[in-house]
Amino acid sequence: MDLLLQGRYCTCDAGDVSVHEGYVGVADGRIAHLGPNSVPAAEVVEVDGCILPGLVDPHTHLVFGGTRVDEFARRMAGEDYRTIAAEGGGIARTVRGTREATEDELFERAAARARALRAGGVTTVEVKSGYGLSTDHELRLLRVARRLQAEGLVRVTTSFLGAHTVPPGRDRASYVDEVCAEQLPAVAEAGLADTCDVYCDGVAFTLAETRRILAVARDLGLRLRAHVGQFDDLGGAGLLAELGALSADHLEAVSDADLDAMASAGVVAVLLPGAWRTLRQTPPRAERFRERGVAMAVGSDLNPGTSPTADLGLCAALAVRDAGLTLEEALLGVTANAGRAAGVEAGALRVGAPADLAVFPFADPRTLAYALGGSRASAVYLGGTRVAGEPSAPLW
Ligand SMILES: [Zn+2]
Repeated sequence: MDLLLQGRYCTCDAGDVSVHEGYVGVADGRIAHLGPNSVPAAEVVEVDGCILPGLVDPHTHLVFGGTRVDEFARRMAGEDYRTIAAEGGGIARTVRGTREATEDELFERAAARARALRAGGVTTVEVKSGYGLSTDHELRLLRVARRLQAEGLVRVTTSFLGAHTVPPGRDRASYVDEVCAEQLPAVAEAGLADTCDVYCDGVAFTLAETRRILAVARDLGLRLRAHVGQFDDLGGAGLLAELGALSADHLEAVSDADLDAMASAGVVAVLLPGAWRTLRQTPPRAERFRERGVAMAVGSDLNPGTSPTADLGLCAALAVRDAGLTLEEALLGVTANAGRAAGVEAGALRVGAPADLAVFPFADPRTLAYALGGSRASAVYLGGTRVAGEPSAPLW
């Protein structure tokens, strides 16, 4: 064994959120031992607090240029998002800011955000493109996302989101044609995306457009997810169930029938408290998902317009307070269920899994969803290598 952590641990595997006393052993970057008995190891670390699987953020727009502080001020003063968007604000503004930035500038900003997430215990991040909206610009964002992993910051899974919005001045039908016939094949050819995402909503793409884009993506070998039901229920969640998608994200507006379809197909619901808070929306109700057996995950939705946060623990805490998740559900929402939604082997302590670990200073892992943000990991391991964290006393 290369490394042996001794202390309390919580596996989050197969719904287990109980606390065990014992040992987590690491060999060759993977978890090689888990249990009450010690085993020989080159290095033994005694842990105060609790060892959790590295957290998984299943929904971010991490790579972008520019800021939208002034727009937020206007919206909080009562101006309508659509008025601001019609003047060239909103997503279109971030597209301009992103296109103007160099690839290195985009990387430095994205790396800072990844480090902030990691300080809160996150070791795997789903990163979307979607602020490029042309083949070259979308490829650039996906390259930046992959570089975060290549440079050892966090593990990354990438989603192509060319269908985030119709670029200003473009005809929507010709843009959807471009996404299907040019952007998606180029992204698949470059091998830069694991998943295809679409923003399916009244303010974005229709259900028919979403179906067409996701079908092309599936034929190119990408897995699928989409933003659905953020404002309007267009039936996107049902489509994702039909297509066997990994996750359906937002779901403020979704029918019971589509939730049943998601449960049958094993599509994970990704809830995004940062967005419903920033937009002052009515949150989804956890009991609807729970009753139907739909697995719930929680994402930061880190983006400059509607969810400017790099604190996944805060999002878990808001999911409890706003949507009614139990603390245990919120914990699984940023670990095992988030790993499922992201489509990666992460979010659970299990022998054979990559040794991505987050050690928190508190003894009860539910503290992550109790504390209203600000939870910092005292050590973070990526593939068994310590990458972040400073020893600290529990705040709560
Ligand atoms: Zn999003």
